[in-house]
Amino acid sequence: MRSLVLIRVAVPVPLFGDFDYLPPPGMDPQAVAVGARVRVPFGRTAQVGLVLDNAVEDSEVPQEKLRPIAEVLDAEPLFSAEDIAFLRWVADYYHHPLGEALLHALPTVLRKGQPLLPAQRQGWRPTANGRGAEPQELSRAPKQRRLLAWLQQRPEGIETAELGYELGPCRDQLKALEARGWVEPCVPPARPGERQLQPAPALNPAQHQAVVAIRETLGGFAPFLLDGITGSGKTEVYLQAIETALEQGRQVLVLVPEIGLTPQLQRRFKRRVREPMAILHSGLADGERLRAWQQVRSGEARLLLGTRSALFTPLPELGLIIVDEEHDLSFKQQDGLRYSARDLAVALAQRRGCPVALGSATPSLESLHNAQQGRYRHLILPERAGGAQSPPISLLDMRALRLDEGLAPALLQGVRATLDAGEQVLLFLNRRGYAPLLACHDCGWVADCDHCDARMTLHQASRVLWCHHCGARRPLPERCPQCNSGSLRALGQGTERLEGVLRRAFPEAPLVRIDRDSTRRKGELELRLNEIRAGRYPLLIGTQMLAKGHHFPDVTLAGILNADNGLFGADYRAMERLAQLIIQVAGRAGRAEKPGRVVIQTYHPDHPLLRLLIGQGYAAFAKEALRERQEARLPPFGYQALLRADARKPEAMQAFLDQAAEAARRRVGDAPVEVLGPIPAPMEKRIGRFHGHLLLQAESRPLLQQVLREWVRSLPPGRGGALRWSLDVDPQELF
Ligand code: ADP
Ligand code: ZN
Ligand code: ZN
Repeated sequence: MRSLVLIRVAVPVPLFGDFDYLPPPGMDPQAVAVGARVRVPFGRTAQVGLVLDNAVEDSEVPQEKLRPIAEVLDAEPLFSAEDIAFLRWVADYYHHPLGEALLHALPTVLRKGQPLLPAQRQGWRPTANGRGAEPQELSRAPKQRRLLAWLQQRPEGIETAELGYELGPCRDQLKALEARGWVEPCVPPARPGERQLQPAPALNPAQHQAVVAIRETLGGFAPFLLDGITGSGKTEVYLQAIETALEQGRQVLVLVPEIGLTPQLQRRFKRRVREPMAILHSGLADGERLRAWQQVRSGEARLLLGTRSALFTPLPELGLIIVDEEHDLSFKQQDGLRYSARDLAVALAQRRGCPVALGSATPSLESLHNAQQGRYRHLILPERAGGAQSPPISLLDMRALRLDEGLAPALLQGVRATLDAGEQVLLFLNRRGYAPLLACHDCGWVADCDHCDARMTLHQASRVLWCHHCGARRPLPERCPQCNSGSLRALGQGTERLEGVLRRAFPEAPLVRIDRDSTRRKGELELRLNEIRAGRYPLLIGTQMLAKGHHFPDVTLAGILNADNGLFGADYRAMERLAQLIIQVAGRAGRAEKPGRVVIQTYHPDHPLLRLLIGQGYAAFAKEALRERQEARLPPFGYQALLRADARKPEAMQAFLDQAAEAARRRVGDAPVEVLGPIPAPMEKRIGRFHGHLLLQAESRPLLQQVLREWVRSLPPGRGGALRWSLDVDPQELF
């Protein structure tokens, strides 16, 4: 008798293990392609899963319990065996169920089981009315006006993606123009093949060396750390290495942090790369995302520029990976499958046998350590490409100063002098809202959140108290809720308050504030950034939204107002982050003709690492910071995994973690793996739930992995609302 052949399927459920099914009635199992999607019954639900194996003969499931696959969704596999093997490795490394990892890697539309039709080109064109419309009528809507004028030049229509490269995100404007009957969706003609490309500049010697080094390794695995100050021409190095890879018929993957994915960068690539390019980021509509995914998978698109999840797109001819701003925290996914796209980029390059270049002006200590150990080749670009100097950085001692609402008089004078000279000022304060604290001067009452161990932030413009952790809001009280006194005081400084101070001090200077509150509406951030570049605002203030990835060449004075948060943060990485921030802010300021300077307000001007950073630069700082990490046996000299748990009742969280800790200790035995905790999270109560965690730490990664493998699978599954837990391998934040 022929033995029964089964099909093994990965199902996106929070359970470890693969699941076996009978082939659909009357269907040969061989006809169900490995890597194709299937619809399967699972418990009382139906799920879209992915076929892992179509010739399984040794199932552990008793025959009478086997159920057939309900529907085969793809005739062709979506993932190659190579892709599946990589994702299996990823799921294994992060101790995450394979089904969730695999389905996570698909565009939403496919995850939901919709058919993979060849995606049509989608685009827009002016309607018959729109062709003759007077853009003047849109004088109150400048973005719409610009868009319409632009489309009127292209009556045959243009692809939506192409519009994005040229004008930035403009979905809202398209919808508005469509509502007026002036534009309509269409299938645009295929792109004109010959575009006018920009010539590449002649490389300086350091750039040349870097490009040659990367080029020479095409065709084999080689990791590089491209360590070059802001403006030293890293992007130029990427572009020229990419050009060679494309000429050799390879596909290229470029990963960037979310905020860096500005239309500027897209445009820069577009003007330099002839081959078809696809873009993947969170701002895309599902259809656009699917089309980009398909273009890459089919090999039609040769270059993929995207944010972290773009890493999971099947690239059949992958030949080079670039990770720009590799130190950026946004490469780490902070929920679900908690992967580091930076780390996985290196793992992927290794599996696929191609070079990978990690670039940054402020490399992570992990990557620097890898370079020092000889695991990565260290390429250094020591000078700004255009010949500009890095701006000097100075510390402003805040001790014994009488503060005019958070700004030192010396800094205020600096602002005035810069404005008088007709130049731009950037002030950076990483705290939105008006003030982080509202307190009663008479009885000491402070406005706390009911759901979190946190203070509520005062937002003056919208007259609310707002918890930045759970989002709870309540109206601003007129009087103290405890003693009814009228003397409520706003303590501390947020961007909203800073804006007020500066508007009063410099009433004649146009000012723009960039934070999540001021850029809530879609497209607003882009609009403001464009206005800034056009020189509309001499005074810029903002949170870290403004510090990352944007170039402001006319800024000649940059101030960092609350640096001290980074010096004594609960997290051992806080100082590394602060150093990166300072250097990044410094890197955005000034250019050849107009050198800039950076001022940091601090109450701890003697902090040794801070002094080292200011005096000798990031490399010297990093060397010392690495020495401290080594002494403390912290990453990258040790490996960590964090088990987080939360529950509505603190006892439930505590009991789970106690039990998990005991199980971990039993499993570890005498092996050199530390089990630290459990301890309550730094903010134990958050969004009405109690949080705690348990840290495992070891000097050997394989040993830690070995402990995790068995241990995690032995933990009871989270019980929905009552208890939730998650494992974070190589956590970037310890809360
Ligand atoms: P990074 O990515 O390191 O910040 P970029 O590649 O963006 O640096 O270069 C900064 C500026 O210098 C850009 O305007 C770029 O066009 C210019 N640039 C880069 N390399 C050269 C070069 N070799 N010659 C002239 N200009 C260059
Ligand atoms: Zn009071
Ligand atoms: Zn709260």
